[in-house]
Amino acid sequence: MAAGQASTSSSRHRIDLDESEMPTRWYNVLHDLPTPPPPPLHPGTHEPIGPEDLAPLFPMDLIAQEVSTDQYVDIPEEVQDVYRLWRPSPLFRAHRLERALGTPARIYYKYEGVSPAGSHKPNTAVPQAYYNAKAGIRRLTTETGAGQWGTALAFACAQYGIECEVWQVRASYDQKPYRRMMIETFGGSVHPSPSELTAAGRAILAADPSSTGSLGIAISEAVEVAAQDPTTNYALGSVLNHVLMHQTVIGEEALLQLAKIGETPDLLVGCTGGGSNFGGLAFPFMRERWAGRMSPQVLAVEPEACPSLTQGTYAYDFGDTAGMTPLMKMHTLGHDFVPDPIHSGGLRYHGMSPLISHLYETGELTAVAKPQSECFAAGVLFARTEGIVPAPEPTHALAAAIEEARRCAETGEEKVILTALCGHGHLDLPAYDAYLHGRVTDHGWSSPDLQASVKDALSRLPQLV
Ligand SMILES: *Cc1c(COP(=O)(O)O)cnc(C)c1O
Repeated sequence: MAAGQASTSSSRHRIDLDESEMPTRWYNVLHDLPTPPPPPLHPGTHEPIGPEDLAPLFPMDLIAQEVSTDQYVDIPEEVQDVYRLWRPSPLFRAHRLERALGTPARIYYKYEGVSPAGSHKPNTAVPQAYYNAKAGIRRLTTETGAGQWGTALAFACAQYGIECEVWQVRASYDQKPYRRMMIETFGGSVHPSPSELTAAGRAILAADPSSTGSLGIAISEAVEVAAQDPTTNYALGSVLNHVLMHQTVIGEEALLQLAKIGETPDLLVGCTGGGSNFGGLAFPFMRERWAGRMSPQVLAVEPEACPSLTQGTYAYDFGDTAGMTPLMKMHTLGHDFVPDPIHSGGLRYHGMSPLISHLYETGELTAVAKPQSECFAAGVLFARTEGIVPAPEPTHALAAAIEEARRCAETGEEKVILTALCGHGHLDLPAYDAYLHGRVTDHGWSSPDLQASVKDALSRLPQLV
């Protein structure tokens, strides 16, 4: 594309793809990794797990995707059909935010808030429900933090006529009643976690009747129920390889959209809870970087209250609190670490995707932790300039993007910044209300309480290299 043409089109606000340009394959980063990540281990034997170990919880199609090293996996027609309800999603240039910051940086955001759940989660909920229904499964159980994953899975299950049962972290169940209502509207059922319905939940409640819960506890409950019923499977909204692969539709579309206006990013920035929206955006760009076609810096942003990448240990740990899942080598704060109840429910996970952890360990990406007050300030500035109220989670990425754009204002650098605006905050307005009326406090790493509780949780890690 000619330079003149590129600069005209990059002045556009919205860059869309036609339906016919929607990617028809997911990208599997495992194929291109410079070194392979360590394998997951069986929680009892500590040997690498095989497909049969996962079969009580997942259908074979998803197990095959979890371990596949094929570079691409075709997106089934039945899944593309549902994707077309909201995909391709728009890419926006944040002209008004740039002007407010007085920055020469060009800021782009890939907006996943247009999906039925209002976040990126349906990108994987839909194929997971599809493969389970195809395998004859009648019910899926799952956990949810802020409620986005539960909403996405309830919607996806409704598409293929299967039931959906959700354990929602108590803190979010109480703070965010609209998510529960939305899950129920899509046909799912919801229990606050910890619950009396499972042995894992009862054990937590016996020790602490006022437990606000955690994703780790809710996972234990959903896994326990699925493991006991052959017609019920479990679905995980983040962390696993197949989940991150499904999310690569985000990055594949963004690549096409930026190419339309002749831009290549210098900085990719995303928020990381379990790593799926971040991996989904970043992996296709990393492929391009490994192929020598671009050289973006890749930055993960996490909350200071749950800093698994920047303050956790890279070790084998359980994905859940009760220790029922396979052991995964990942950056972890310890499987029984319970973070303070910050407003970004989706970022309150003790661990991190093994793929993201491996890429962090091998220097392919960097990470930073942000306090929630700085994130809400970024979210409010974004709302007032761009007109979208972001979910609390992606305000972490916005805070880092804004910090970098301000730096560019000082240096005059015309950096191209791309972020995933992975969800809207329409159901998180009480969190904004708390911020706007001075009721948001930071639970930063400088707090001796947090340091002590992480140290304590890490001391109970399984003793494996
Ligand atoms: C679930 C969620 C997250 C955190 O999960 P990742 O796997 O890290 O993406 C972040 N933002 C939103 C809007 C979510 O729904």
